[in-house]
Amino acid sequence: MANYAESLSYHFVSAQAPPTREERIGSCSAFCGSCRQLQEGMKTGCAQLQNRKFSQSGGCQLTLAVGIVSSLTNVVMIIHSPLGCCSNFVGSGGLRKTMRASKGKVDEEFIWLHTNMDELDVVQGGIDKLRKAILYAEKEYHPEAIVIANGCVPGIIGDDIDSLVTELSNQISAKIVPVHCEGFKSKYVASGYDSAYHGVLRHLVEPPKRYESAIPKVELDEKEEYRISKTVNIFNVGSNSNGDEVELSRLVSALGLIPKVLPLHSSIDDIAHIGEAALNVSICATHDDYLLGHLKERFGTDYIIDTLPIGIKNTNQWIRRIASYFHLEDEAEKLIAFENKELNYALEPFKKELKGKSIFVGGGETRILTTAEFYYSLGMNLLGVKSHNVDRFVDEILENMDDQELIIDVAAGQPAEELNLLKRLKPDLYVGHAGANGWVTKLGIPNLPLFGQSFNYMGYSGAFELARKAVRVLKNTNFSKNISANVTLPLSDSWYHEDISDNIKDVELY
Ligand code: SF4
Repeated sequence: MANYAESLSYHFVSAQAPPTREERIGSCSAFCGSCRQLQEGMKTGCAQLQNRKFSQSGGCQLTLAVGIVSSLTNVVMIIHSPLGCCSNFVGSGGLRKTMRASKGKVDEEFIWLHTNMDELDVVQGGIDKLRKAILYAEKEYHPEAIVIANGCVPGIIGDDIDSLVTELSNQISAKIVPVHCEGFKSKYVASGYDSAYHGVLRHLVEPPKRYESAIPKVELDEKEEYRISKTVNIFNVGSNSNGDEVELSRLVSALGLIPKVLPLHSSIDDIAHIGEAALNVSICATHDDYLLGHLKERFGTDYIIDTLPIGIKNTNQWIRRIASYFHLEDEAEKLIAFENKELNYALEPFKKELKGKSIFVGGGETRILTTAEFYYSLGMNLLGVKSHNVDRFVDEILENMDDQELIIDVAAGQPAEELNLLKRLKPDLYVGHAGANGWVTKLGIPNLPLFGQSFNYMGYSGAFELARKAVRVLKNTNFSKNISANVTLPLSDSWYHEDISDNIKDVELY
């Protein structure tokens, strides 16, 4: 995958809201065909313009944006919208507790308020309710930051939340962060990451002020300079676990560098110091290219957006790219040789069990392609993948796929399409995004989640876990068989005889 550090320009942060991914990246969200056809379509630009004839509901960017900013320590979220937009947050408190506990952080409630906009507010505007909510949050909880997630309704009626933020900023001690994540603006839920980081960049990334010392502290300054010159910021994502972070930090430390994992679950102070690093490293371009590009413009910190370190090949590549930035190629090769030898030995028994078994992987683009590559390297037969969307960040991975005729369905949500495909392909194992597994079990296909906040999937230890989990699931497949025999899916038989590529509407050129 190419390093885009040189080729992208990030200059959006002066605007109140970020551009949508449609405007900025031009992803493909509707496609069904081969890997080769997808690449051809992406090159001509036709794949990015395709649509669906029939579409089930997809996600909303507000949920993803809130997922990012609500993870920060000592913040209060205000969802400015009708109550329905908050329906996804009921379980979020538990997730926050799990993540904080796994990192050894002090337990903290997930505090979120909402403005409960109603019909009258649509006519009169919701700014007064929002003002009350901000002042209430400050008085009741004394957070370091109050983050406002703006939903569709205030976005459509034109509530000027930025002016309110300016008005209140000098009246309360908390930093106020408006996040423009109105769901109607983009059909790519990943736009929510840009919306969240846009707010963070504008309102929370404020390097601490440094003052001239009366007595020069040369030694201290040199130590500080050295620390920064060795620091590698690893940008975590909502789907990784603490186990993943520990493993990636271990690999970066083994090169003699200083890993620092952020921004999720960080303190506001950590965010303020985000510019103190020699290199910013992404583990998933879908999440953070917007943030890393802006940090480069603001602090001059170089960044690497490459592959996702899942499986042996992609973890090796991730390490090599980081090492090469610091001219540590020899150290990297020694580390890779040692780790690969140990891991390959440990994987031998799993390879025997998995060889020849077929697999289908569904979820986010980089994660599914790297996960699929790993299982393929273990001797499994890759039948197809389903991606939420596809953009330029996976060009290189698609190009390097051994099987250019591999079936790729590009569809965010759309379980009906995925189930049609799975019923036809009948994989022995399905590995997929949370939410899909229930449907797939009803189809009788054994499956395991593509990610889990308490599992390790990344790095070499994650590769071992992926193999171990697949073997365990395939050892006894009675659970999915029994579910499928007793629970039906709400799709008619005739649907399974449809060719889902007929559901994709080609672009009409005039
Ligand atoms: S699409 Fe709009 S109305 Fe629906 S949940 Fe998202 S922000 Fe709320």
